[in-house]
Amino acid sequence: MASVNNTLRLIRIGEQQGSSCSSALADDPWQYDAVTGYGPGASQRDALPEGSPAQGVIPREYRNASAAELDLRIRAAKHALGDRLVILGHFYQRDEVVKYADFVGDSFQLANAAKTRPDAEYIVFCGVHFMAETADMLSKPEQSVVLPNLAAGCSMADMADLDSVQDCWEELMDLYGNEPDADGRAPVIPVTYMNSSAALKAFCGRNGGIVCTSSNAAQVLEWAFARGQRVLFFPDQHLGRNTAKAMGIPLEQMPVWQPEQKLGGNTEAAMRDAKVILWHGYCSVHKRFTVEQIRHARLRHPGVRVLVHPECPMEVVDAADEYGSTDYIKRRIEGAEPGGVFAIGTEINLVQRLADQHPEHTIVCLDSIICPCSTMYRIHPSYLAWVLESLDRGEIVNQISVADDVAEPARVALERMLSVKPKVA
Ligand code: SF4
Repeated sequence: MASVNNTLRLIRIGEQQGSSCSSALADDPWQYDAVTGYGPGASQRDALPEGSPAQGVIPREYRNASAAELDLRIRAAKHALGDRLVILGHFYQRDEVVKYADFVGDSFQLANAAKTRPDAEYIVFCGVHFMAETADMLSKPEQSVVLPNLAAGCSMADMADLDSVQDCWEELMDLYGNEPDADGRAPVIPVTYMNSSAALKAFCGRNGGIVCTSSNAAQVLEWAFARGQRVLFFPDQHLGRNTAKAMGIPLEQMPVWQPEQKLGGNTEAAMRDAKVILWHGYCSVHKRFTVEQIRHARLRHPGVRVLVHPECPMEVVDAADEYGSTDYIKRRIEGAEPGGVFAIGTEINLVQRLADQHPEHTIVCLDSIICPCSTMYRIHPSYLAWVLESLDRGEIVNQISVADDVAEPARVALERMLSVKPKVA
């Protein structure tokens, strides 16, 4: 229960001290249900993409309910639904919501966890939109996936839309042609991070490409280079750059593709020499971490181990002691000898939860400014109570459903990923 209350308390302290990324984060989320844009927080400058699902204002009884009343109502609805319901909670979700989850993990772990409950009619995904889409594609057709707040998108995922990627692909095909080389390798293999729309996963499935997670990105790139001369990696430039750099690919062979610009803003020579073409996207939360914060943590906590997520910028990953996925960071803390001192560069709710769960260590967030993933943060207990009570009445609200013509090729790209052995670090 510590995380959300702590986060809100810290945000309010931060407001007073001028150290919160947005004072509006402490506002109730329904204040933003009817406005255009992602609202306050890490992604406040990212416009809500055209065609995004809209969240209506939830009934007043949920908006006005106290935390204690919501707790009672959520527990009662969950109990009434019994085995017909499974609730999934992402690592970055606030504890006030995660405490009701049957499974807690990263997006892919959660989609797989849902498969262990094939008899559950309803999968309530307390995460963001692309995660619910993946769960829908990997679950059985008769299961319904529900996202408690439709405004819980991912600003990084939305930086790569299908039209822009298709335009890029056509330019690449014009430049490289579409004939394989003497070794049978295609000119380009598209690789999409799990944090992308189902439409982009389907694009990869249709074009010989694959999906990756932050746990298996290196293995997926190896898979792609066995089949292609170069890779188009989207949407996160940092995960792509950090992974390819660790594989020995020079930075000069990783041009960044800016949509709307000819050849993505690169010269033809640079594109011909490219090994990994990086989409311009980034995570609004992880790009906040800096080398200066690491320097400060080392001064303040002598002997500290700095662990960061690979969505952080390259300079930050290079300055850290270790980097890895959320699951890696969690396992690293769990496996450490008592008395460890860790500064972590990932989303604040996970860092605070690790600190609460591991009092035997000193665990701090690299960024002293409180800045949760503002879109994930929109899953407030009021929305959870609303969707669960609706389901208990037999009414499915906020269902996330991927059309078959998208889901089928997307599953091809996901299955290719599953064929790649994950790295256990
Ligand atoms: S933390 Fe970043 S990548 Fe993850 S859901 Fe939030 S905006 Fe998207």
